[in-house]
Amino acid sequence: MANVITETVTAIHHWNDRLFSFKTPRPQTFTFENGHFVMVGLEVEGKPLMRAYSIASANYEDELEFFSIKVANGPLTSRLQNIQLGDKLLLSTKPTGTLVADHLLPGKHLYLLCTGTGLAPFLSIVKDPEIYDRFDKVVLVHGVRYASELAYQPLFDDELPNNPWFGELVREKLVYYPTVTRESYKNEGRITQLMTSGKLFDDIGLPAPNAKDDRFMICGSPGMLTDTCAILRDLGMHESRHGKQAEFVIERAFAEK
Ligand SMILES: Cc1cc2nc3c(=O)[nH]c(=O)nc-3n(C[C@H](O)[C@H](O)[C@H](O)COP(=O)(O)OP(=O)(O)OC[C@H]3O[C@@H](n4cnc5c(N)ncnc54)[C@H](O)[C@@H]3O)c2cc1C
Repeated sequence: MANVITETVTAIHHWNDRLFSFKTPRPQTFTFENGHFVMVGLEVEGKPLMRAYSIASANYEDELEFFSIKVANGPLTSRLQNIQLGDKLLLSTKPTGTLVADHLLPGKHLYLLCTGTGLAPFLSIVKDPEIYDRFDKVVLVHGVRYASELAYQPLFDDELPNNPWFGELVREKLVYYPTVTRESYKNEGRITQLMTSGKLFDDIGLPAPNAKDDRFMICGSPGMLTDTCAILRDLGMHESRHGKQAEFVIERAFAEK
C-alpha cells in the first residue's frame, strides 16, 4: 500500500476499561507538526482497517504515541484494545490537521479545550517548548464524565514540571484544569458551562477571554465543538480556515456515525 508503513507496538497502557495508550517507534522520515493526526490501524482479513488518530507524542520524540477509546462494537477498537507488545500496526505516512499553533494569531493566553480522547493532540502541544515562548499562559482544560477518565495526570503533575529542558517554563505557564460531569470532583461541569458562568476564568485567575488576548484550540465531540465555537463567535472570535491565522482552531475528537 502506498503511504502506509508497518510498525511494532513497543508499549501499551490501559487507563481503565474505556481508554488505553500505545506506542511504536517513530521512523526518522516520519515528521509531523504537534497537533497533527494520522491514520492508524490493523490488517484484518488481508485488508487495512484504519482510523484517524491524533499523535499524542511530540514531534521530537523517538516514539509515536496514541491515546485511544475502546468502542465495544467498533470495527477497529474492538480489536485494537487487545494488541500486545510486538504486534504490528499500520500507520499512514501523511500526518495532517488543523490543530496547529501556526494557524493562530499571536496572543497572551492559549486555551486548549478538550473532552475525552480529544486530549491526545494537546499532549503533543504541551510537550512543545515553543508553545511556552509564544504565550504567557497555556491552559489545558480536560472534560470527562468520570474521574477515572482523567488520563495522563502524572504527565501534568510530575513529568512536565520536572522536564530538565523546559520544566521551568511549564511550572510558570502551564495550567492544567481537569473537570468531571458525572461524579463529584474538585472541578465539576461541562467546559461550556464553566466558560459561560465565568467559573473557569475565576478558578484559574485569568480575565474573561477577549479577541485581542486569547486564543483557543478545541478538540471534542461534534456537539462540544458546536457549542464551544458559538461561545467564541459571540466574543467576536473567528475560526482559522485554510491555514489563515485567526483566534481559534478546531478538530473533531471523533465523527458520529
Ligand atoms: C481527526 C480525528 C482524530 C481522531 N483522533 C482520535 C484519537 O486520538 N483517539 C481516539 O480514540 N479516537 C480518535 N478519533 C476517532 C477514531 O478515528 C475512531 O473513530 C475510533 O478509533 C473508533 O474506531 P472504531 O472503528 O472502533 O469505531 P468507529 O466505527 O470509528 O466509531 C463508532 C462510534 O464510536 C464513537 N467513538 C469513536 N471514537 C470515539 C472517541 N475517540 N471517543 C468517544 N466516542 C468515540 C462514535 O459514536 C462513533 O460513531 C479521531 C477521529 C478524527 C476524525
